[in-house]
Amino acid sequence: MRVLVFNAGSSSLKFGVFDTAADTVQRFKGGFERFHDGQCDFRFRTDTRDESGHAPHADLDAAIAAVPDALSEWGIDGIQAIGHRIVHGGPDFAAPTLLDAPTLAQIDALTPLAPLHNPAGLQGVRLAMSIWPDLPQVGVFDTAFHLTNPARATTYAVPPAWRKAGLRRYGFHGTSHKYVAQRAAQEIGQPLVALKIVSVHLGNGASVCAVNLGQSMDSSMGLTPLEGLVMGTRSGDVDPGAFGFLSRQMGLTIEEIEHALYHDSGLRALAGSSDMRDVEASAGAGDTDAQLAINLYAYRARKYIGAYAAAMGGLDAVVFTGGIGENSASMRRRICDGLDFLGLSLDHDRNETISLEGRAAPQIQAYGSRVRVLVTETAEQYQIAREVVTALERDTPLDMPIPIAVSGRHVHLSSQDVEALFGPGYRLTPDKPLRQPGNWSARERIAIEGPNGRIDHVAILGPTRPRTQIEVSRTDAFTLGIDAPVRDSGQLDGTPHVRLHGPAGSLQTDGLIVAARHIHISPAEAAARGLSDGDYVDVRVTGVDRGLTFTRTLVRVQPDAFTEMHIDTDEANAAGIRLNGEGALVQGVHAQAVALRD
Ligand code: ADP
Repeated sequence: MRVLVFNAGSSSLKFGVFDTAADTVQRFKGGFERFHDGQCDFRFRTDTRDESGHAPHADLDAAIAAVPDALSEWGIDGIQAIGHRIVHGGPDFAAPTLLDAPTLAQIDALTPLAPLHNPAGLQGVRLAMSIWPDLPQVGVFDTAFHLTNPARATTYAVPPAWRKAGLRRYGFHGTSHKYVAQRAAQEIGQPLVALKIVSVHLGNGASVCAVNLGQSMDSSMGLTPLEGLVMGTRSGDVDPGAFGFLSRQMGLTIEEIEHALYHDSGLRALAGSSDMRDVEASAGAGDTDAQLAINLYAYRARKYIGAYAAAMGGLDAVVFTGGIGENSASMRRRICDGLDFLGLSLDHDRNETISLEGRAAPQIQAYGSRVRVLVTETAEQYQIAREVVTALERDTPLDMPIPIAVSGRHVHLSSQDVEALFGPGYRLTPDKPLRQPGNWSARERIAIEGPNGRIDHVAILGPTRPRTQIEVSRTDAFTLGIDAPVRDSGQLDGTPHVRLHGPAGSLQTDGLIVAARHIHISPAEAAARGLSDGDYVDVRVTGVDRGLTFTRTLVRVQPDAFTEMHIDTDEANAAGIRLNGEGALVQGVHAQAVALRD
């Protein structure tokens, strides 16, 4: 499919044309910026031609209107779909979305959350719809990737009425973080869902994201793109007490303070220029303000990397991207210096001699560094093109129902742990067969104990496994007093410890998880629904009063599997399911899963 991608900002328009067959290839790259005095600068590129200069377009509207002629003059035709970058998707836009009048109204209503960013994006969409009324237009949201962040990461500790009004953390640069994390996983040669990655996007705007086992878990930007790192002209983290102080001491209004935090802060405030190249040159020439700016910039980024390693309980890779992350070897070095205690050390020669040609993602860690460090160009437009295709293709009928079964808390034991709990040589007694062939519930029961409490009569499922795994609900985790992570079955590294009690003994073991919801499905049924092992899908619960849609449900294709989605008791209660229910696939495969198989 040939996709035209627009990224309309308040002062620039970037656009690209991509062909998304087996691989995604960029055919054309265009940009208009620096609008002034009825004209602007432009640059257009293909593989064989590169032109720049001035164009007679006074504003964004005029520039977008000029795109069809520019494309035909460069021999680019046959556009089949259009993708738009939209900065703020609020709490509801969790996936790329086909844009029509009602969705545009919904996005419009989010303008108070991103007054500087969303209006330009919408302006681009409306104009593109009038120019290409027959083409599907898809919105891809910067916030969507972060909607998986847990409440503890998204909640501000502020009065309930403020939270009710919408004050919460969202996070931005999601398309970039998602793309570079996928690219890093490909380069490392491991599935994204097995890695703990910190993605560091350092452009004019800058943010850090904890990508934990394939999902965004936290990111440094908050309600707005102002929180977090030091940026070109934005302050990043500032004590909110500054508002009262500045108002009382300097008589500034909220608007003045906000304007200064967005436009007159960051590198510009510290060193006189928002451009890191200027700041580095001044620092090199001995300017102490510029030197402080660089130190502060690196310190803040390093602090977030450490924080996110702690938040994820580990770190496998750090990925740098964005104009500064890609080009400034000295900034990468300053950020990484001192992280040896995390098992991260740089190879300074590699750091200084990287090439990012052709979507390369070079690794720059030292030999023996446990944590990998990668650099790659961010490719937001490329990612948007792929997500447009995914969004359009998923509208194929997927209405074969999926049976839903509720899993109560249970454990899978290793044979060694069976003996520790029930005595030497003990074998579990199969009681009832489960619907997944070869699996059964045992007659025996055990107790689980955590620092806050104990749960008795916990079911054991057989057969035994190489490693003990304890699956509880979030509510059970509170009873135990342990923060259990949501994990796919078998992903047990770094999971919390609990004590298990059996009739013949007790033991301490890791392996406590809240099982991520999943669908067991046979190869034939998967093929009928267009699904593959490792895909993630959304499932809408049907036929109940409290219907809801479960997003990001892992598909596990296994020979002879009985097709069934497994949810835990908390999820069942939320959906209003007692023992069994039924759901329908409402969206096809998520881009993330598709990308992993690229
Ligand atoms: P945006 O967020 O607007 O897309 P970019 O990702 O292009 O911005 O990043 C712009 C930043 O990258 C600027 O601060 C610029 O100075 C910096 N940058 C670009 N090239 C270099 C370089 N060679 N060395 C240091 N900084 C660089």
